[in-house]
Amino acid sequence: MIPCPVCRVENDEFATTCRSCKAFLQNRVVNLDLFETAWKILEAPKKTFQRIAIAEHKNYSLALFSMFGISLSFTLFWYLRLGDRFDTLLDLVPTALGAGLVLGLLSSVVLSGLYHGFAKLLGGKTSFRNSFAILAYAATPVVLSLFLVLPIELLTFGMYLFTWNPHPYTIKPVSYVALIGFDGIMALWSVLLATLGTVVGHHVDIIKAIVIVLLTVGMYGFLLLAAAQQVLAIL
Ligand SMILES: [Zn+2]
Repeated sequence: MIPCPVCRVENDEFATTCRSCKAFLQNRVVNLDLFETAWKILEAPKKTFQRIAIAEHKNYSLALFSMFGISLSFTLFWYLRLGDRFDTLLDLVPTALGAGLVLGLLSSVVLSGLYHGFAKLLGGKTSFRNSFAILAYAATPVVLSLFLVLPIELLTFGMYLFTWNPHPYTIKPVSYVALIGFDGIMALWSVLLATLGTVVGHHVDIIKAIVIVLLTVGMYGFLLLAAAQQVLAIL
């Protein structure tokens, strides 16, 4: 809550003017700049989630979800060893990209829907638009790893990354552990950011935020794997 400096009325933390006397409370944020916001979410996450919550337009949220979907798609291709279904990387990569865009759109609806639902159940207080933007920007580390690490993984292991035949670990153990480890750390970082974003955006304590995020990740992971098995059984 922000008390008004003029009339002392308590205002919502994301209000820019007092609801009673219209006095100035904090700077308006109209638009979010992608690179500035993505950088600041890594550097000063708490302040940046506050800024995202205040922003009138939650710019680039859908773009971030799309890139998150592409990252998720390649992870599924790796985890489910889908390389056997393709002749070369030139067939696999466009398919994974296409599936990733679909997965990104799906995630933007299902993942943020689950998240918003769990948050509301546990006393979360922000709008769906803010839930959506919190998750989108929390995905920044995963998106970074898509651009930084995936190209190196593709160049280092080629199809073996997706066939496990032989397992990429046996080809270059150190590179494999380092690259997959880096991906894992970035995913964990995104989970931590989502938790922090939940504390800031939904005004819940850290324990509730952890429960909300873990329920969301667990449920979405379960649904995603179940759906992927169904789709693969049909194809
Ligand atoms: Zn006032």
